[in-house]
Amino acid sequence: MTASSSDASTAGRGPERAARPESGTRHGDTRALEHRLRRDLDGEVRFDDYTRHLYSRDASMYAITPVGVVLPRHADDVQAAVAAAAEHGVPLVPRGAGTSLAGQTVGPGLVLDLSRHLNRIVELDPEARTALVEPGVVQAQLNRAAAPSGLVFGPDTSTANRATIGGMIGNNSGGSGSLRHGMTIDHVRELDVVLSDASRAHLAPVDAAEHRRRAVLPTLEGAVYRELPRIVRANARAIAEGTPEFWRRSGGYRLERLVREGAEGAEGAVGAVDAPFDLAKFVVGSEGTLVIATRALVDLVPRPAHTVIAVGHFTSVAGAVDATADALACEPAAVELMDRTILELSRRKIEYAPLGGILAGDPGALLFVSFSGDDEGELRGRLQRLTARWARHGHGYHTLHAVTAKQQEALLKVRSAGLGLLMAAGEGTRRPLAFVEDTAVDPVHLADYTRRFQEVLDRHGLAAGFYGHCSVGCLHIRPFVDLTDPAQVTTMRAVAEEIRDLVTEYGGVNSSEHGDGLARSEFNPLLFGRDLYEAMRGTKRLFDPRNLFNPGKIVDAPAMTDHLRDRALPPAPELRTRLAFEVLGGMRGAADRCMNIGLCRKSATGTMCPSYMATREEEHSTRGRANALVKALSEPDPRQALGDERLHGILDLCLMCKACKSECPLGVDMATLKAETLSHHHDLHGVPLRSRVFGAIRLLNRLGSATAPLSNLPGRSRLVRRLLERRLGITAARPLPAFARDNLLRWFRQHEGAAPTAPLGEVTFLADSFTTYTEPAIGRAAVELLELAGWRVRLAAQGCCGRASLSKGLLDDAKRQSADFARTIAATAAPDSPVTGCEPSCLMTLRDEHLALHPDDPVVKDLAGRVRQVEELLTEAIDAGRLRLSPEAWPAGRRLLYHGHCHQKAEVGTAATIALLNRIPGVEVVELDAGCCGMAGSFGFESEHYEVSMTVGNDRLFPAVNAEPEDTVIVATGASCRQQIFHGTERHAWHPVQLVREALLTGTAPAPSG
Ligand SMILES: Cc1cc2nc3c(=O)[nH]c(=O)nc-3n(C[C@H](O)[C@H](O)[C@H](O)COP(=O)(O)OP(=O)(O)OC[C@H]3O[C@@H](n4cnc5c(N)ncnc54)[C@H](O)[C@@H]3O)c2cc1C
Ligand code: SF4
Ligand code: SF4
Repeated sequence: MTASSSDASTAGRGPERAARPESGTRHGDTRALEHRLRRDLDGEVRFDDYTRHLYSRDASMYAITPVGVVLPRHADDVQAAVAAAAEHGVPLVPRGAGTSLAGQTVGPGLVLDLSRHLNRIVELDPEARTALVEPGVVQAQLNRAAAPSGLVFGPDTSTANRATIGGMIGNNSGGSGSLRHGMTIDHVRELDVVLSDASRAHLAPVDAAEHRRRAVLPTLEGAVYRELPRIVRANARAIAEGTPEFWRRSGGYRLERLVREGAEGAEGAVGAVDAPFDLAKFVVGSEGTLVIATRALVDLVPRPAHTVIAVGHFTSVAGAVDATADALACEPAAVELMDRTILELSRRKIEYAPLGGILAGDPGALLFVSFSGDDEGELRGRLQRLTARWARHGHGYHTLHAVTAKQQEALLKVRSAGLGLLMAAGEGTRRPLAFVEDTAVDPVHLADYTRRFQEVLDRHGLAAGFYGHCSVGCLHIRPFVDLTDPAQVTTMRAVAEEIRDLVTEYGGVNSSEHGDGLARSEFNPLLFGRDLYEAMRGTKRLFDPRNLFNPGKIVDAPAMTDHLRDRALPPAPELRTRLAFEVLGGMRGAADRCMNIGLCRKSATGTMCPSYMATREEEHSTRGRANALVKALSEPDPRQALGDERLHGILDLCLMCKACKSECPLGVDMATLKAETLSHHHDLHGVPLRSRVFGAIRLLNRLGSATAPLSNLPGRSRLVRRLLERRLGITAARPLPAFARDNLLRWFRQHEGAAPTAPLGEVTFLADSFTTYTEPAIGRAAVELLELAGWRVRLAAQGCCGRASLSKGLLDDAKRQSADFARTIAATAAPDSPVTGCEPSCLMTLRDEHLALHPDDPVVKDLAGRVRQVEELLTEAIDAGRLRLSPEAWPAGRRLLYHGHCHQKAEVGTAATIALLNRIPGVEVVELDAGCCGMAGSFGFESEHYEVSMTVGNDRLFPAVNAEPEDTVIVATGASCRQQIFHGTERHAWHPVQLVREALLTGTAPAPSG
């Protein structure tokens, strides 16, 4: 067993911790509140400890456990929840995707998750260029719907693939395009809201007559229309003096927006006769403290036909910032900065590997300058002008031009992932934290300001990553801090105060798009001045006299050092694990790497996280699972906690696809965490029969093959399948794979094989359970090709690699199997000879989980280092002329639609497969971005998972396959994927080696065979 260290520092748990206001205070009688909510709401009501923990965090450094969580189904539910909470004196925290960076969505009250059900696009009006949406609509979802009309939602946060419109309204979000399109406040027309007394209101610009009509209403809405103008009038001077000059701002309330110049009274006035009074815009950026939006009418803007990008290469951040002025002179749509820290982090991820081949040298910083418009020629001209200008002024050493979508793909991907990548640079509880990450100054001061910012960091000995929107003076600088160390907490506060003063000196803003939350609200009295701050407090009292809506944000905030997430956790209790978690803090540290940035809540692209895509439930995202594990592993007896049925339910829909290992910027590896958790569950509750059956798949397949075709009869009988469903929980909805009597081992024994003097020497071919017993044609094709290429092939057929046991949490079995496997290969294969195979999940296990099972075993390490993908070996052979493919063969000239296996994507990527397929003459290879197929080994065969499995397949994979004409060849590397494609579309999918084998011949397509 591997001992997982419990080294989350215990330092820093001094008096400050004891004095902290209690997190998760239960207000009033929560049981009665829960009962009332269950009675009054159609949506879900969850008060269990796990759900409360899952909603205690957002992408900030804070954590507060809420009293409960509701998932409203409609606006009536929101209203009912507000009424119930108000009656019980419990505050409410509206929440979208929970990607806020300053702690806006953590609070002790009732969290309203508006993303789960309130996510409909009610109406899209291309003529009026507006969209009527519910608050949980994700920005990318709206953009997809608007795309056919050539429209897009203007503000473009880098979290566009998961951030909700409600959250954007809450934070007044902006993005790289804000130079052109401004911020969310500039795009909100009307809002339906619930007020703090549970009444409803429709906010829109109103003229003086309508204002007067509303101001006499005997309601909270009436009071707001009556009193808010008075607050503005009484504080006109404070508003004029205290409002920052810089336009790009998401902190404080926007009282200056209600001031009407030239209206009556020396102190300014509100609502001049012909000027509309616009509460819809006023509440944007109020972080859920004034109203809860249930519908929004927002503007859409035309999507430019073309975008071209110049990427300036600089030796330092200072050099890049200095070059910003020249970029701005060329009227760009955006100028984005990225420093070396982020570039280096991106190099560690397979996903961003293409970037390496594009960039020149080793830049210390990059500036991405985008130009958008409808005339591509004119845009190219601007690229040239900028390049010439930079050259003339000696800025940078290289400028890359990315004009086509293909050229821009890798650049855009890394640009939008910048902040997420930066977050991944932490180790243990030393994290790059968001507390001075959102300041902005007029870009003319940016170079000077950046230098002074760096001086502050240097003085305090803090390292930081730099990233930001230079075109609008906004820098996301995240210093690395360990908040379990009290001295670092003090340093953090000192830096925050100095930066607050620095940004004020330059007339800038402390928050330019991320909002105040718990990180910055405390400083608002100083930033806005006492009088304007008091006016803001009066505004909050007016809208929310009982302080129910997200209290402690914007006004009357706690100290920025309260409620710190890392300090709220007890030290990790000791836990012995079977797998090695090679991160600080052991298994809990591995789960607690999650910084809640919510990329695992994306949909429509990539693979992570298939179960979230299918259910849209927080607890079925990687983030939900990681947070649940953090809770379990913080319990006094984590072994016991890992056997908890609620935790088990949260992890249950994880397909162990490993997509999070590569796609999550923090590399949260849930497949490994789940395997370990399952093993503890088995310790406490025993191993279910079905897990034993699936864990022994090799033995079953061997017996099935030996007794075929008889053994295939039960799988074809509905009756037997129903029995299997009842007794074992194996779904009757799928046909079982057929066993091949003529299995790979038999064939191999009988075939002639290569000459003993094969020029390339020996290669070991992994005779996995599927390639051997159910799809031997794939194994045959691979062996024949390798032999033709000049290899002498040995079959590794002595037993299972342990993959099946791993996926069922049978880690002791997996440990034994993997050790035996490695030892047999070491004893029988030629030293240093490659080991290859056709089934990615098995092959990748040798270089991933085997190491986690035997971290210190040199034999296992040696085997891991010898793994080569069969595609690599065959491509080399083709390129060296040892294998020749015929343009006359039936696969030549075809369109090949390729679906990669998740484990392959996570471990090594799909480049080798694409390269091999492209060697077939004349083919058009299209790689699907269809995520996980949904089968994931035995997952899709399990009755209770069947539906989710098919939903995952139906999301993108089945529609993409079904859309292809009959003569398109479907290609998939994984046995599960091929089965799932067949079950979902009735189309046969080929393994790449089969196609290459076919391409050696001429003739017509043979009938697919197992
Ligand atoms: C890696 C990363 C990159 C980011 N990049 C950007 C960026 O480029 N630009 C940017 O502006 N931000 C950025 N952010 C911050 C964040 O993603 C945005 O603020 C986003 O718009 C928040 O959306 P959400 O759905 O997650 O909202 P949440 O975080 O859930 O909520 C945001 C606020 O809105 C309130 N709220 C939510 N719904 C409602 C509602 N219906 N009515 C009233 N109030 C409501 C919440 O109470 C909270 O105060 C980034 C964050 C991360 C983690
Ligand atoms: S699991 Fe990864 S992608 Fe998901 S929220 Fe956590 S850090 Fe982000
Ligand atoms: S392994 Fe796959 S299903 Fe499980 S959390 Fe990661 S991405 Fe989601």
